[in-house]
Amino acid sequence: MAKIQMVDLKSQYQKIKQEIDNEIFAVINSSKFINGPVVKEFQDDLANYLNTKHVITCANGTDALQISMMALGLKPGDEVITSDFTFVATVEVIALLGLIPVLVDVDPKTFTIDTEKLEKAITPKTKAIVPVHLFGQAANISTIQKIAKKHSLFIIEDNAQAIGADYITESKKQKLGTLGDIGCTSFFPSKNLGCFGDGGAIFTSNDELADKIKSIVNHGMRVRYYHDHIGVNSRLDSLQAAILKIKLKYLDEYNNARQTAAAYYDTSFKDCEKLIIPSRNKQSSHVFHQYTLKTQNVNRNNLIEYLKSKDIPAMIYYPVPLHQQKAYTKYNFNNSDFPVTNKLSKIVVSLPIHTELKKEEQDYIIENVIKGLDKC
Ligand SMILES: *Cc1c(COP(=O)(O)O)cnc(C)c1O
Repeated sequence: MAKIQMVDLKSQYQKIKQEIDNEIFAVINSSKFINGPVVKEFQDDLANYLNTKHVITCANGTDALQISMMALGLKPGDEVITSDFTFVATVEVIALLGLIPVLVDVDPKTFTIDTEKLEKAITPKTKAIVPVHLFGQAANISTIQKIAKKHSLFIIEDNAQAIGADYITESKKQKLGTLGDIGCTSFFPSKNLGCFGDGGAIFTSNDELADKIKSIVNHGMRVRYYHDHIGVNSRLDSLQAAILKIKLKYLDEYNNARQTAAAYYDTSFKDCEKLIIPSRNKQSSHVFHQYTLKTQNVNRNNLIEYLKSKDIPAMIYYPVPLHQQKAYTKYNFNNSDFPVTNKLSKIVVSLPIHTELKKEEQDYIIENVIKGLDKC
């Protein structure tokens, strides 16, 4: 058995090597490295896949969030509400733009923003909500939409971890990332749709916003050397677009493979008293960017050390909630406002999950998780 990895990008590449290599060399031969035709082709393919009007690619997921906030015209001092239990990118760009990050605790089951606490956090200065579809499933988006409407707030979905997941209501299915004013994603290699470097994209069905976003990503210019907005330089290069264009065709297959692996873990751990398997939000499918267990009465470090001794990687997403991060102390977050994230950061553990995970590897992981729990 090969060494188990959190994510196995090498085996994934081997399966589509010929197709990918051909596209890469086509770009190199064309020497259209920036804004080559394949960038537009990929944007159109992704817009089709998501069933949204506009996809604008950019350099990474963090830029996607920043550019969205710029496009919405948020001004220094405006408050933006987001989740306390996520990757730092969101709060970072809020702070960089001089906006005020307002962090909200999460739901203990889905790990996504607690909508009751969210509504309480709204003030006259609040301008936008950034729900994060964490680990592969939706935040409670229907309630968030109602709250946003009631208080006239923008919604920017952080969909870096849930591309391809569906939002499901009685009447229809829609892709996550297309439910707010703007959706953002990342093509970081380990994401569900990853490229071979950095990349990101912004989605919207609003023509005016799309026009502004297209200009902001390119130094705020619509016409060359005429700058209408203060912009940035944030591009997905043609090589990455070519790779993503191929990989997009396999995205559903990839997400299915993750779901199959997650279901197998679920069956194996559901009767284990010391573990709580990931719960599913009824409003959406789950594309398992991460498979994250909650431990109960377990010495988590011992478990992780034991797994490491068996050559099994396990990760903690996230070990420190954002409100406790040193860089953000100036916002004076109140630790007692975050009982759930404080607890989750101490009890969660994520197991290897990826598109190439084999049953025999999972059997080995499962066997050793159970053995390891005995020792904790
Ligand atoms: C990965 C990620 C980002 C940032 O994406 P980059 O491409 O690394 O900049 C933002 N938000 C969440 C939730 C992420 O997981």
